[in-house]
Amino acid sequence: MFDRKNTCVIVVGAQWGDEGKGKLVDVLAERADLVVRYQGGANAGHTVVVGDRQFVLHQIPSGILHGGAACVVGNGVVLDPETFFAELDELGTQGIDVTGRLWISDRAHLVLPWHKLLDQASEKHQQIGTTGRGIGPTYEDKIGRRGVRVADLLGAPDLRALLEDRITRVNAVLGMLGASVRADLEEHIAFATRLAERLRPLTTDTGLLVYRALRDGRRVLLEGAQGAMLDVDHGTYPFVTSSNTTAGGATVGVGIGPTEIDGVLGVVKAYTTRVGNGPLPTCATPDLEERLRTLGGEFGATTGRARRCGWFDATVVRYAVRVNGLTGLAVTKLDVLDTFAEIPVGISYRLDDAVCEEMPSDVTRLERVEPVYEVLPGWQQDTSGARKLADLPPAARAYLDRLQDLSGAPIRYVSVGTRRDQIIEC
Ligand code: GDP
Repeated sequence: MFDRKNTCVIVVGAQWGDEGKGKLVDVLAERADLVVRYQGGANAGHTVVVGDRQFVLHQIPSGILHGGAACVVGNGVVLDPETFFAELDELGTQGIDVTGRLWISDRAHLVLPWHKLLDQASEKHQQIGTTGRGIGPTYEDKIGRRGVRVADLLGAPDLRALLEDRITRVNAVLGMLGASVRADLEEHIAFATRLAERLRPLTTDTGLLVYRALRDGRRVLLEGAQGAMLDVDHGTYPFVTSSNTTAGGATVGVGIGPTEIDGVLGVVKAYTTRVGNGPLPTCATPDLEERLRTLGGEFGATTGRARRCGWFDATVVRYAVRVNGLTGLAVTKLDVLDTFAEIPVGISYRLDDAVCEEMPSDVTRLERVEPVYEVLPGWQQDTSGARKLADLPPAARAYLDRLQDLSGAPIRYVSVGTRRDQIIEC
């Protein structure tokens, strides 16, 4: 990846999110000139370890941790200005200077306090297991053509009238949902006015910025949040997020055409996890699930929620290869499996007494599938020091070969620890 100039690569999650995209973006950003987030909001959390410091980024692309890369929050992101500036201030206190290398799309939609009220009220009716951060309602407003974009906020001839119009409707909906709270107009005006002045100098037409960067021969990394199985079209609907997490969402969420894309890297864990509600076919038995969770530190970066854990599900990853057009895979957290004597891999499903090799399109069928497992021998050796494939024990290499064969895309990277240097380029 990024071995030549003028390259545009997308990094996506190829399972249910939390695959370690932040680490891969951080590793690749060393060679990138521009890193762009294209969807999602403050519900996504990337944890990146640099030396002995750990950064949790929700809104700012993790490329910001490299001095050389400029970072963009694309139009497909829903921007929570409060979280964004808290994160920016935190980076400042950690000595990371972002001056002149962080940009926000003027077309990005804003997550406003009323969206969080709506999110929390809706979750009482339909339990998706959302983070309650207002992401879904902001995307609903976007599609419903009643959102507030950064450009609308900065250019509003009458901000009070704009917000009053939106809040009248919001409060009617909150009433319908049986919520006891209401959105307050004056609070929203104060909030928007305060944040507008901080947003203004960072705002630009970022689609044009990315387009020009590519014309000038720069290397651009497009950073996805969540994973393929949480895509609003291709995921386990309705237990999904509200945006297109898959590679197709990248061009829309950045404002460039599909012909600009040179490669799509899918990040997968060497096993599977899922946070939030919805089926997880290869979920491990409770004792092994607990072991994977403890060894892998499987607790959400945004909410601290325990993730459900299970075995590598090749049906999921094959599907992700197809719907994203993956040109390569990055397998993370191989080291988490170091102590297991045997490692099951889900190679397909059985559904109603028939073999099922493709992802069912509805969750009721996905809930009924029985995974078909192949059990591979573990390696029971520490892999965290490996820096090339040859350093890995033969059983670990055989495990990776099998994942590659079952998935149908070449493995380009293997990650064996949280640190930047714990990576194998294949
Ligand atoms: P993301 O949203 O896809 O970036 O994933 P998260 O940040 O939510 O979760 C990934 C977690 O796994 C982070 O805490 C990383 O530091 C950690 N991580 C990433 N790669 C590896 C790895 O190869 N081994 C181990 N043990 N941890 C890793």
